[in-house]
Amino acid sequence: MVSFEDARHLVEQHAAGVSPGEVETVDLLLGLGRVLAEGILADRDFPPFARATRDGYAVRAADVVEIPARLELVGEVKAGDWLEPGVPSVGPGRAMAIMTGAPLPAGADAVVMVEHTSSIHEPAGKLVGKSVDKLVEVRRSVGVGENFVPRGAEARAGQLLLDRGRRLDHAGIAIAASVGKSGVEVFRKPRVAVLSTGDEVVEIDATPGPAQIRNSNSYSLAAQVQNAGGEAVRLAIAPDERKKLRALIKEGLGCDLLLLTGGVSMGKYDLVEQVLGELKAEFYFTGAEIQPGRPVVFGSCGADTPVRVFAARPLSAPTGVSAPHKKYFFGLPGNPVSTMVTFELFARPMIEALAGMTPQPLIFLCARLKSEIRTKTGLKRFLPAVLSGEFENAEVELARWQGSGDIAALARANCYVVIPPDRERIDAGEWVSLLMRSG
Ligand code: AMP
Ligand code: MG
Repeated sequence: MVSFEDARHLVEQHAAGVSPGEVETVDLLLGLGRVLAEGILADRDFPPFARATRDGYAVRAADVVEIPARLELVGEVKAGDWLEPGVPSVGPGRAMAIMTGAPLPAGADAVVMVEHTSSIHEPAGKLVGKSVDKLVEVRRSVGVGENFVPRGAEARAGQLLLDRGRRLDHAGIAIAASVGKSGVEVFRKPRVAVLSTGDEVVEIDATPGPAQIRNSNSYSLAAQVQNAGGEAVRLAIAPDERKKLRALIKEGLGCDLLLLTGGVSMGKYDLVEQVLGELKAEFYFTGAEIQPGRPVVFGSCGADTPVRVFAARPLSAPTGVSAPHKKYFFGLPGNPVSTMVTFELFARPMIEALAGMTPQPLIFLCARLKSEIRTKTGLKRFLPAVLSGEFENAEVELARWQGSGDIAALARANCYVVIPPDRERIDAGEWVSLLMRSG
């Protein structure tokens, strides 16, 4: 039995040693949620020209030190216009109307917002010393560099914008699109075998007998695997019987990772550890001081374990060939909430690593507790909870639940309150750590 922190570190250490699969090129939008196998570079300066960030007038800041200032209006530049260098430019005492997104004309060194100006139409000749048709009156000074972004200020041509190993989200998609990448190189998704065990567990389209339950774990896990960037391979349900369990475990070890659920507790028919032991598994931990999920197991089967390679995808090793390297597995407890929590805490970082992702820390948030919590010491608890409240006034409260089998309670929750092992009571109003529930 190890502490939560030690268990997590063990997984992280092993995850740091795994390699992602082959590289494939996919259309940009199909790259959403995939892990980049290439760095994305700026193909030119960003922005490619000094870009106005306001509608207004391009001016020389020195001309509007004293206000109000009247400047001669020499033209207009809108987004998409390209002014040949020098003509026409913003000379002393002059201004040019400019729109957001337009290039700053030569000579100008700032933009005054249109809100702080008025354009003046007076017949030529009436204005002292000037025979111009249009003037603009500026009522507020601006500093040099105000209201435009200089060329290359966001990134220089050739600069790395997105790292290899980064999972593409909408912001990453925007960057790839902005540098003209209609296809991106990503790593093949790791195939993750999902193996539910238990004599009482039946397929979801079967009519369960009075003491049977439907196999929800294979589905929640498959969903979590997909969410973490893997591809789930759901295996048949393993009965609590050594031979069949062993055959299915071997099949599962043909994937990049094996997730088992159930059969890791202390019961007479909890055979998972035994059967893995027979397959010469190495165990890194068998149990963590957490609740839910205490019986969680993490280990690997060595290169010498004969495994049947699962032939689900053409990209995998060919059928019938032994997988050459160590295969990791997690034995997750069968109680559905424990299964989901232990997946997030331990299996996710391994899947992310197999997917080629740069390691991500587990991020905890803080919120004020709405009502007191009483519990026992000894385990770090991750209890389903509801984070709510208006705007910045977040508050969190435990979801009412009937224990680790209560998936309805988990579905109502949107986070977990994390309770340190040494706390017996946490008062309402105290700040507590939260782990958000993903996807
Ligand atoms: P076990 O970890 O095998 O002792 O199972 C703990 C509890 O989780 C038992 O009540 C099981 O019926 C339940 N359980 C085990 N496997 C599944 C599954 N695949 N889907 C839903 N519930 C399960
Ligand atoms: Mg069982």
